[in-house]
Order: sequence, then C-alpha cells, then structure tokens
Amino acid sequence: MDEPTLFTKIIRGDIPSSMVAEGNEWYAFLDINPHRPGHTLVVPKEQAQRISELSVDSRRALMDGIIEVQRRLSIEFETTDFSVNLNDGPLAGQEVPHVHFHVIPRAPEGTQRPLWKPPGDSTEPDFSLLAELAERLQAH
Ligand code: 5GP
Repeated sequence: MDEPTLFTKIIRGDIPSSMVAEGNEWYAFLDINPHRPGHTLVVPKEQAQRISELSVDSRRALMDGIIEVQRRLSIEFETTDFSVNLNDGPLAGQEVPHVHFHVIPRAPEGTQRPLWKPPGDSTEPDFSLLAELAERLQAH
C-alpha cells in the first residue's frame, strides 16, 4: 500500500475537514483556501493520482459526488452554474497527488455571499466559518 495521501488522511478522519457530503466511493469537503465562497473538493476514497488510474466504479461514482455537491451548493448559493476543475497530474498544477475535482459555485459578479476569509492581511483559513458553512451544506 502506498503512503496515505493528505486526502486519504482526511477521508479517514486522521486530519479534520469541513465535510459537505459523502458517498460509498467519494468524499466532499470545503477547500481550506477557497478561490470563491463554497469552493469544495470531491475526492475518490480509492487513492489514485490520476483519473486514468481509478477503477471504473470509482470514476463513475465520482461524477455522482460532483452532482450531489452541486445540488447542495446550488441551494446555499442560489445558482445553477459552477466551475468544475481537475488538475490531472503535477504538470497540470496538481499539488496533492490524489484525484480531486474542484467544484466552485459561480454567480453574477457582485452577488457573491461574503468570503469567509478573515478580513485584513491574514492568509489563515477561518475554520469556524468553514465549519458553519459545512453544517448548512450537510443539511441541504
Ligand atoms: P490542486 O492545486 O492540487 O488542484 O488543489 C489542491 C487543493 O487542496 C488546493 O485548492 C488547496 O487549497 C487544498 N488543500 C490543501 N491542503 C488542504 C487541507 O489540508 N485541507 C483542505 N480542506 N484543503 C486543502
């Protein structure tokens, strides 16, 4: 067995995360450094670096996970539009070597709910705001 990746440790609960939703084969949680409000990562429980290395079942289930996350985000952010991005390998900008789709709700400029990054120059994630949002998303 390969060394567990950061995301495998998150899936196992060894590292805390703000869970959005979970299926048998996938896990979704808020990105610690959101590009926009609601930025969620959807990852397979099967550990693999690239989508081509995933089992058929796992890659199919992953799409279900993306759709389920969109459903929840669409209620919270009142939008049907999303950026869904995948960096498939380090040369594509992948930083964590475990398949992960970025699901980011999009809304007309100026209508976004406030960012939950703390005001000022701090780059530290606001874990309490992430946890509050995750709780609301879990309830949707
Ligand atoms: P990549 O650049 O590999 O496509 O994206 C990796 C993402 O993982 C980044 O958006 C980064 O903010 C996020 N990330 C890195 N470490 C953690 C972590 O410990 N927890 C969470 N929730 N997200 C993380």
